Amino acid sequence: MKPLEIINAREHNLKNLILTIPPQSLTVLTGVSGSGKSSLAFDTIYAESQRRYIESFSAYARQFLARLERPAVDAIRGLSPSISIEQKTTHQNPRSTVGTVTEVYDYLRLLYAAIGKPHCPTCRLPIQRQSPETMVEWVLSQPPGTRLMVLAPLARQRKGAFRKELEFALKRGFPRVRIDGEVRTLDEEEVRLDQRKAHDIEVVVDRLIVKSNLTERLRNAIGVAVGLSQGTVLIALDGQGETLFSVHLACPACGFSLPPLEPRSFSFNSRLGACPTCDGLGGIIDTSPGAKLQHFTGLRVCPDCQGARLRPEARAVTVNGQPLEALTRWPLTEVATWARELSLSAREVQVAAGIVAEIQSRLTFLVEVGLGYLTLDRPTATLSGGEIQRVRLATQLGTPLRGVLYILDEPSIGLHPRDNQRLIHTLKRLRDAGNTVIVVEHDEETIAQADWVIDLGPGAGAQGGHLVAAGPPASIRQCPDSLTGQYLSGVRQVVVPRTPRPPAQGYVTVVGATHHNLQEVTARFPVGCLTVVTGVSGAGKSSLVLDVLYRALVHRSGSGVPPGAHRAIEGAGVFDKVIEIDQLPIGRTPRSNPATYTGVFTAIRELYASLPEARARGYRPGRFSFNVPGGRCEACEGDGVKRIEMAFLPDVYVPCEVCQGRRYNRETLEVRYEGRDIAQTLDLTVAEAAGIFAAFPSVAHKLRTLVEVGLGYLTLGQPATTLSGGEAQRLKLACELARRATGRTLYILDEPTTGLHFEDVRRLLEVLQALVDRGNTVIVIEHHTDVMWAADWIVDLGPEGGTGGGRLVGEGPPSRIATLDTPTGRALAQRLAA
Ligand code: ADP
Ligand code: ADP
Ligand code: ZN
Ligand code: ZN
Repeated sequence: MKPLEIINAREHNLKNLILTIPPQSLTVLTGVSGSGKSSLAFDTIYAESQRRYIESFSAYARQFLARLERPAVDAIRGLSPSISIEQKTTHQNPRSTVGTVTEVYDYLRLLYAAIGKPHCPTCRLPIQRQSPETMVEWVLSQPPGTRLMVLAPLARQRKGAFRKELEFALKRGFPRVRIDGEVRTLDEEEVRLDQRKAHDIEVVVDRLIVKSNLTERLRNAIGVAVGLSQGTVLIALDGQGETLFSVHLACPACGFSLPPLEPRSFSFNSRLGACPTCDGLGGIIDTSPGAKLQHFTGLRVCPDCQGARLRPEARAVTVNGQPLEALTRWPLTEVATWARELSLSAREVQVAAGIVAEIQSRLTFLVEVGLGYLTLDRPTATLSGGEIQRVRLATQLGTPLRGVLYILDEPSIGLHPRDNQRLIHTLKRLRDAGNTVIVVEHDEETIAQADWVIDLGPGAGAQGGHLVAAGPPASIRQCPDSLTGQYLSGVRQVVVPRTPRPPAQGYVTVVGATHHNLQEVTARFPVGCLTVVTGVSGAGKSSLVLDVLYRALVHRSGSGVPPGAHRAIEGAGVFDKVIEIDQLPIGRTPRSNPATYTGVFTAIRELYASLPEARARGYRPGRFSFNVPGGRCEACEGDGVKRIEMAFLPDVYVPCEVCQGRRYNRETLEVRYEGRDIAQTLDLTVAEAAGIFAAFPSVAHKLRTLVEVGLGYLTLGQPATTLSGGEAQRLKLACELARRATGRTLYILDEPTTGLHFEDVRRLLEVLQALVDRGNTVIVIEHHTDVMWAADWIVDLGPEGGTGGGRLVGEGPPSRIATLDTPTGRALAQRLAA
C-alpha cells in the first residue's frame, strides 16, 4: 500500500489541509468537537472513495445512481477501497440478529446440517442416518464374539395395523417377533396382543455372533431389515441395549419423517426452517389486554416455538447434546466455550473442522471487542450504536481483507475502560492483516497506542480545520500548540479535584428492578447531586436508568411507554420535570437550526418586521420566516437546498439554484438591519450574534449561554442536519441552562462524552455542575473515568455484562468506589495513580 496523500481539503471548515497518512498504520484523528475530523474522515476521504467506486461501475449501472459530488479537495493519492464501520443500525428488520449479521448463525446452520443429530420431535428419540454398509461396519467394530440381534421395527401401534407386515415376515421366514422387549413366536403373539394398548413390535431378522466369516450373513440380515422396516433398523448387542439406525430420517417409533437436513432447515428466514406458526418471527401479534409481549418486537411469544423461531424438527437436532436454539440464547462467551470443547469423531472432524474454526474465530473477535455478554438471538435493532459498530468490527475481522482503508468513528463508545485494551488490540489486528485503519477517537489510551496521530483544530467551526500537529503520539505530547498534546502530557486536566456534594436532600430510590438482566436491583440517587452510573458494557446501566427510572417517571405523567419491571420508585416527588438530554438531532430537516431551536429567531424576525423599510412595505414577522410562503424562495420552499434521492445511498443535498442557498426571495432580502439582510444574519456565528444583539436581553442571554457551552462557532442558521451529536447535545443543555431555574428538574444523560475531546469534556462537566449548582439533579451513564471522578455519587453495576451482571456492586462517592475490587473501582484507582 502507498501512503494516503490529501492535498488541499476544503470540505466544510477544513482550511486547505495537506496531510499524509502512513500505509498500514493505525491512525487516530483527534481534535475538539467541530474541529473537522468527520469532515476529513467521512466527508472527504470516505466520500471520495465511494465516488470512485461508483464511477467504476458500467455506464448502464451508473444511470441508476445519482452522481456523487466530488468532495472539495484538490487531490487524493494512494486511496484504497474504503470500508466505513458505522454505528447506525441501517435496518430495523426484526429478522436481523447478532447471529445473522456476524454470520455465526450461518456457520452454525452449516454445522448442524453437517453433523447434527436429529431426534424425533415428539418421541425425543435420536434418529441415526446410516447406510446399510456403515451399519455392517459398526457391528464388525464390536469385539469378536459379541452376540447381537438385528431387528426391523415395524410399528408402535395397536393390533391390526401391522398385521400385513407380520404376515410378510412370516412368509420371509422370520418366525420370531419381539413385542414390548420380549422375543416371542409369531403365532403366540397373534392371539395375545392387548387391543387397547400400543406395542413395540420388531421382527427379529437374525441372531448372530460376530465373526468375520459371518459378514455375508450380517450384510444380508441388515439388508432385509432395512427393506422390511423401510429404512430403520435396531441392532441389539447382548447386555448393551440397542442402537437405532436409519437410512433416512424417520422416527422409528412414530414414523415421523424428516427431510434430509440442509442449512436451510435451520434458517428462520426460509420456509424449510421457520416455525410455521409465527413464520420465523418468534412471536405472534396479540392485541388482547394483558398479553405478555416481548420487549423488542411487541409480539406475544409464539406458543409453538417459544420464540426459538424454528420448526420443531430443526429444534430437535443436536450437536454435542445442544439444540441450535439453546446456543442462540447463551451469552457469546458460553457459545465460544462450547465450540472450543466440542468433541467430534474422526468423520465429523473431516466435514466440520473448517466450519467450527470459522465459528470460533468470529466468536473470539466478538468477545475480544467486549461483546461476550450478547446473545445470538438478540435483534440488531435493539443494540446501541457502539455495540453495533463493534459487532461490525468483529465481523470484518472474521472475513479479513487486505489492502483496505477502514474508517471508524469512536469505536470505544459504550465500552468500559477495562475492555478498551482489547478493542485497541482488535484495531491493531485489522492493521496487521495489511490494512490502514483510521479512527476518529478521543480515548487517551487509543491515541497513545496509535502509530500516527492527526490533531485538528485548534478550535471548532471557523476556528478549526487546521492541521495542528501530525506524527507519532510522543511528538503530539511535546507539541505546545496542541490541546490534545497538553491533555496527554498532563499540562491540562479535565477535572479539577473537588469535594463531592453531600447527599443532603435525600434520595430518589429505584426498588427491586428486574428488567432485562437486573437482579432485584435497589439503587439510590441523591437529590441535588451529580450521579454517575458505571459498569462494563451490558452491566445493566441503561436498563436501570433509562428503561426503569426515566420511563417510570415519564409514565407517571401519563405519557411514554411503560417502564421495565421494578417494584417501586421512592422519593421522586421532589421533581417537577424529568428530561433526558441525548445526542439525537434537534430536527431532521434543514429547517431547524440553532436560531429556531433556541427561539431567538422569533425575536429576530420581529426585529426585522419593526424596521422602517419593512413597515413601509407592510412586512410582518412571518415574511422573514423560511417556513411559510411570502418571504421565502419558492423554488426550494425555503430549504436553501434541494434533496436528491439516491437509489442505494443516503440522500444528498445540493444548494438551490434560484436563491443560491439563501432561502429568501429578493424582496425580503432588501430589508437590512445594521447592513445585514436576514440571510446574512442567519450566517452570523453565535458569538458574533451575541455581540450584535447585545441590546436585546432575551436574545443575548440565550446566545451567551451557547457561547458558554462552547458553541459560539456555530452559525445561527446552520441546518440541524449538519450538527454532530455532541453539538446537538450541548445545544439542548444550553437551552436548559438558559431557562429560569426551578431547581427541581431531574436530568438524565446517556454517555454524554460521546464524540467529545478532553477539552469538550471539561466544558460539558462545567455545564453539568452548573445545572446541579442550581439545585437540579443530574444522572449520567458514563465510562469516562474523569467524569466518574467529577461525580458526587457513583452507582456501580456489574460486576460483568449480561447474566454475569445486573447487580449493584457499589454506591457512594468516587473515593469509596475507587477502593472496590470491581472493574470500575480498579479503573478509578488507576486513573488516580496516573
Ligand atoms: P468534528 O468531526 O471534528 O466534530 P465536523 O467535521 O463534524 O467536526 O465539523 C466541522 C465543522 O463543519 C463544524 O463547524 C460543523 O458544524 C461544520 N459542518 C459539519 N457538517 C456540515 C455540513 N454538512 N454543512 C456545513 N457545515 C458543516
Ligand atoms: P449497559 O447499559 O450497562 O451496557 P444494558 O442495560 O444495555 O447494559 O443491558 C443489560 C443486559 O440486558 C445485557 O445483557 C443486554 O444484552 C440486555 N438487553 C439490553 N437491551 C435489551 C433488549 N432490548 N432486548 C433484550 N435484551 C436486552
Ligand atoms: Zn413460532
Ligand atoms: Zn431557493
